[in-house]
Amino acid sequence: MVKLRGHHLICLNFYDGDGIDERFKQNVEFIKKRLVEGEDIKIVEGPDDICMECKYLKNQICNFSADSETEVKNLDEKALKFLNLKKGVVVNFNELKRKASYAPLEFYKDFCNGCSFMEYCKCPVKI
Ligand code: SF4
Ligand code: SF4
Repeated sequence: MVKLRGHHLICLNFYDGDGIDERFKQNVEFIKKRLVEGEDIKIVEGPDDICMECKYLKNQICNFSADSETEVKNLDEKALKFLNLKKGVVVNFNELKRKASYAPLEFYKDFCNGCSFMEYCKCPVKI
């Protein structure tokens, strides 16, 4: 079972290759392949299976920028609230894709505002 934190439940739907570095990219692609093939997702709080191969994770804290730990926690909360899900729940990727596609553009304008990963992403704000 793949462990994912709140905001990655949304972001993974729009991942468009590349990323922080080769290790990160390969890990995200491997996770996405497992999910497309039907493996379930367990929702976790804090670092997940994507963060585990990210060079910015230090001592279980996101160090992408000075405020990133707070920012990613806020994004986790926003995502879980929108998806009406919570920590510990098991979900299927297809179910998530359906929910993410129902979100209005206004949701993504707020959710994706200022995101440093937008260049690796096909989020609705860009389309
Ligand atoms: S930047 Fe932070 S939230 Fe994003 S994958 Fe890396 S550690 Fe996780
Ligand atoms: S732009 Fe950023 S926050 Fe929005 S879906 Fe893409 S990675 Fe996630």
